Amino acid sequence: MKQQTVIGIDLGGTNCRGALVGANGEIVAPQRIETAIAEGFDVFWARLVDFCRSLMGEGELRGCPVAGLGIGVPGLVARDGTVREAPNLAALDGFALTSRLEAELGIAVRVVNDVNAIALGEAQRGAGRAFGSFLMMTLGTGVGGGLILARQLWYGADGAAGEIGHVVVRPGGYPCGCGSRGCLEQYAAGPSILRAFHQLRSRSAMVAPRYARIRSAEEVAAAARQGCEAAQQAFAMAGCCIGQVLAGVANLLNLDGVVIGGGVADSFDLFIPSLRTEIDRRAFGVTAQRLQVVKAALGSQAGILGAAQLVREMI
Ligand SMILES: [Zn+2]
Repeated sequence: MKQQTVIGIDLGGTNCRGALVGANGEIVAPQRIETAIAEGFDVFWARLVDFCRSLMGEGELRGCPVAGLGIGVPGLVARDGTVREAPNLAALDGFALTSRLEAELGIAVRVVNDVNAIALGEAQRGAGRAFGSFLMMTLGTGVGGGLILARQLWYGADGAAGEIGHVVVRPGGYPCGCGSRGCLEQYAAGPSILRAFHQLRSRSAMVAPRYARIRSAEEVAAAARQGCEAAQQAFAMAGCCIGQVLAGVANLLNLDGVVIGGGVADSFDLFIPSLRTEIDRRAFGVTAQRLQVVKAALGSQAGILGAAQLVREMI
């Protein structure tokens, strides 16, 4: 059992979280550092390697030497472990993360897209356990996705599958960071909900002046719960766009479920009614009835668990 201890890491644009993960998925000695990519690639890389070594040292201290390391990164990951198109960690673009970490640490390393890791974590121990096939969706600064089909992660031909945030909902809509226009991300991510709220607010004389100071989707959610109709509508509109896309996904794949995580999922109750209505209106009856839409269960642990699971399968 001891030799099956691995490290799971969730590398984000802002924070890097990691832990030792035991053979039964138990999380031990969780640690966090700031990713600090703004300080330059060399500083970032030295900190990341130190972080990994410190977790390996923790394993030694506990008598459970680390056999491998799985790491989820916010970008497309090619099959050889090279990072491609990482908008929030652009310095990693084209970097052979797997082989470089293996050379530094001397243990097996597996690199995976961060939301794919979250999907695996939720499948293993979270809200996806009940589903054979489901879509993991994260709603935060952006909209991410990962597909579990027949209990296996679906990578796609190039490891780029699952990008649900870049399905178009408004053909002539807002330009998106991916180069397209009107992507779901532009209507359902936290900043998009904030933008929609201020547009609705500025058109209505009914909204209390204090709401003009709102600067985040969490504050929009608080206003919605205080009865502010513009705030409620901003979430309903996001739910509507997500539901339109999910109706198409349901018709295409006939999934058991959709698991929604990320910071915006804390406001699940504010967008689920309109989301559900769109699915039921647009998808085939059998398909819509099958599709359960639920909130993620594991929070920030999901990515750590999923990345750990992937490397464990290798060793
Ligand atoms: Zn896009």
